[in-house]
Amino acid sequence: MAFQDRELTCRDCGGSFVFTAGEQEFYASKGLQHDPVRCPSCRATRKMMRPEDRDESPNYGVFASWGGRTPRQLHVASCAQCAQLTEVPFVPRGDRPVYCSACYNEVRAKQEAADQAAAVHAAARIASSSVSVALEGPGPEAEPDAAGGAGRLPE
Ligand SMILES: [Zn+2]
Ligand SMILES: [Zn+2]
Repeated sequence: MAFQDRELTCRDCGGSFVFTAGEQEFYASKGLQHDPVRCPSCRATRKMMRPEDRDESPNYGVFASWGGRTPRQLHVASCAQCAQLTEVPFVPRGDRPVYCSACYNEVRAKQEAADQAAAVHAAARIASSSVSVALEGPGPEAEPDAAGGAGRLPE
């Protein structure tokens, strides 16, 4: 079987490259049925990539945040807020809500805001309780507005 140079189009960069007769013979000797889909330079680039960066690696969809790797035992759970399936590193037990990472960030931000509001409220209570103590002192300094108003003559 005679081989002839053929021009192919690279799937990655769209450039054309020659699938030489020699390469075709080599492919045939390896039992490869398919033409190469990438030019030699793109093939070399891909060889240097980590396997998880190649598009052949499985796509985990919403679990892609883990980079396709599973750092530890994960359990699939439904997000308590958006009902989307997510993976959590603990066994969901139903006694605490499970959130996807987006909702978790949202919930945590709200919780932090609530904690902050509670802290401000507590501080305000402490401040107001000390006001009565201050009032028993020499008395508040005259308010600047009151002083200005007192000095103004009626027109
Ligand atoms: Zn290419
Ligand atoms: Zn969610």
